[in-house]
Order: sequence, then structure tokens, then C-alpha cells
Amino acid sequence: MSKILVIIGAPGAGKGTQARKLSEKYGYPQISTGDILRAMAEADTPQGRRLREIMTAGKLVGDDILADLIQARTSQGDCKTGYIFDGFPRTLNQAYTLDKLARRQRKQILLIRIVVNEDVLFKRLTGRWSCPKCGEIYNIYFRPAKREGLCDLDGEPLLQRNDDKPEAVTRRFEEYWATAAMIDYYKRSGRLIEVDGDSPVDVVFDKLCAVIDAQ
Ligand code: AMP
Repeated sequence: MSKILVIIGAPGAGKGTQARKLSEKYGYPQISTGDILRAMAEADTPQGRRLREIMTAGKLVGDDILADLIQARTSQGDCKTGYIFDGFPRTLNQAYTLDKLARRQRKQILLIRIVVNEDVLFKRLTGRWSCPKCGEIYNIYFRPAKREGLCDLDGEPLLQRNDDKPEAVTRRFEEYWATAAMIDYYKRSGRLIEVDGDSPVDVVFDKLCAVIDAQ
């Protein structure tokens, strides 16, 4: 049976990286609802303007818009044998919509959570600084520069991405915690598969492939 893969995990757990690798291996397109909505928000139409407002406020776009969007995207030819969702579903209603869609398309949903200790993730993200000149990446907790705030290789002052500042990371975690009801729905129906993500990328990838191939 062809599959719908839903990879979830807290910020920094590596779901983007793994989704990309799975897309290459299985030939499934990776569908990011965030990317599609960002493109829709650029349109100079009432809907485009509404989407821009919602997204800049960091709120969730309405479930009805998401339902139409995924219906349209997953009806395309490249989704026939399967596809991977990135950023969907986020709410209970979206999970119900996905169940209906999977029944209509005769596909099996696999919801896989990459589990990594959240303290470690918070430090991985908020501790990350990089050299703007050579791109070298440091972490103040796990791989500090020899001289604080300066690149070991060329002495350039290190920079932190806006997305990795503590306020931004906290907001990203809150967005993830808000999906708890959706995750619980899959858990209660015995469909949540958990994979330990506290290992190198390739080890986690092999575990994911084993889980997917076993279904
Ligand atoms: P992302 O790139 O996945 O972080 O998504 C960026 C923004 O798009 C989010 O902050 C939401 O405003 C919107 N968005 C993406 N996916 C969804 C979804 N499944 N449900 C509601 N809003 C979404």
C-alpha cells in the first residue's frame, strides 16, 4: 500500500534533514505546508493579505484552507505512490482531514516522532553560533570556540541566527507543544511510532527506514 509519511519532532530534532533523505530514498515528494502558504501569502489578493497577517503574527492558518491546500497538492501525479508531510497535521481537525484523505486515496498514514531530550535540543539551538566569514559552526555548550565569541580559524566575531535566539527558540517549542492534542490522537489509536533521535543522522535514518519498510 502506498504511504503518507508524517515526520514530527521538536525543533532541532532533525526532522527536516530526515524528511529530505527519506524523500530521496523513496522518491516521495516532501510537502511543506509552510512553504506553500508562504508562496500563497505573496499574492496581492484578499486571501494573500489575510495569510500574511496570520503568518507574521505567528498564528495558525485556518483548518479549512489547509484542507483545500493538501487536497489540491496531493492530487498531483508525483504523489501517487506516496508523499511526506512537513508541518502538517498540526491540529486535531487537520488529523481528521488527513484520515479522510488517506481513506479516499487508499494510502496508509505513518506518523513517526523523532524523540530527542528537549533540554539537549534547547542547548543545541540556543548555543549555536557561526562564523560569518568561513561558515564554521560552534556551540557554546558542546563545542565552544577557544576564545569566547571569536572564530578559531580566522578570529572573526561569531554571529547567532535570529531563529536561534532564546525568545525565538521558545516560540518554536511552544508551537510544537501546541500540537500535543494531534499527537495524542495518533497515540491513542496506536498509530504513533517513536524513533530515538539522539544518534548521528545516518543512524537515525537507518532506524526510520527500518520502521517504514516493516509496515
Ligand atoms: P512552518 O514553515 O512549518 O513553520 O510554517 C510557517 C507558518 O505557516 C506557520 O507559522 C503557520 O502560520 C503556517 N502553517 C504552516 N503549516 C500549517 C498548518 N499545518 N496549519 C496551520 N498553519 C500552518
